[in-house]
Amino acid sequence: MRLISLAGKAGTRIGFIEPDARFVVDLQAADPRLPWDMASLIAHGEAGRQAVHTAAEQAGPQARLALESVTVLPPLPLPVRNIMCVGKNYAAHAGEFRGTAGTASGVSGDLPEHPIVFTKASTAVIGPGDAVPAYLDPTASVDYEGELAVVIGRGGRGIRASDAWDHVFGYTLVNDVTSRELQKRHGQWFLGKSLDGFCPMGPMLVTADEVPDIRSARLTTTVNGELRQSGCLADLIFDIPTLIETLSRTMTLVPGDVIATGTPEGVGVGFSPPSYLGAGDEVEVHVTGIGSLRNPVV
Ligand code: ZN
Repeated sequence: MRLISLAGKAGTRIGFIEPDARFVVDLQAADPRLPWDMASLIAHGEAGRQAVHTAAEQAGPQARLALESVTVLPPLPLPVRNIMCVGKNYAAHAGEFRGTAGTASGVSGDLPEHPIVFTKASTAVIGPGDAVPAYLDPTASVDYEGELAVVIGRGGRGIRASDAWDHVFGYTLVNDVTSRELQKRHGQWFLGKSLDGFCPMGPMLVTADEVPDIRSARLTTTVNGELRQSGCLADLIFDIPTLIETLSRTMTLVPGDVIATGTPEGVGVGFSPPSYLGAGDEVEVHVTGIGSLRNPVV
């Protein structure tokens, strides 16, 4: 199923997108006993999913809304904790940090032996169509990173790669917007990745059962309609099971955790001179079967 969070009069609600994508079922109007936020719904596991299906099937006309009439929020408007991100997870992108671009960004171009993991503050999350506030970056070095994000369903520690798919609730899109200068200046990437509004997410949360083989999906990022990034999920250096095994080896993953899987080559810092984002730009991240995430820059 394809789920969204939407803004209702009485706060955030969860919407079930009908197959033709014209209507969305307001699940709380359909069945007020359902959880009202996505993280709680995910934590209800299989029982929650079944309840959503039943509510969507039985929804009366008062619970069906035209999709174009609703305000779509990020699927997880305030994730349970920081977004976990993977650096340099496509070989060609790692190469972009060699030479002058690497010096400029303070990131080496070597291929990682183990996944590079950092986080973005949960407060950086904004929704589809929301403006990325590039003006918050005093160094004017705002860059895009289109990424597929995995949302964890059943949590756990010590999850083996062979069992990892059983822990995936679904997928969404993230733009890991980054201030390259702040990323470099502060050593740790956290500040340069966590400016308010620097984590566009959405528009949908597509459950794993809708996606038979995520590895065959293609990710593209355009800026003002110009193709900048294009990569295939099959090209991840560390695939999704490996990431889940690595993260959970020493740390408990919880329902609703978001793992951004890394970005392909074509980021702005890889251009000479760098091609950073500024007011008036529009970035669109697209992954086959998962959707398109469009955000203007101000
Ligand atoms: Zn990233």
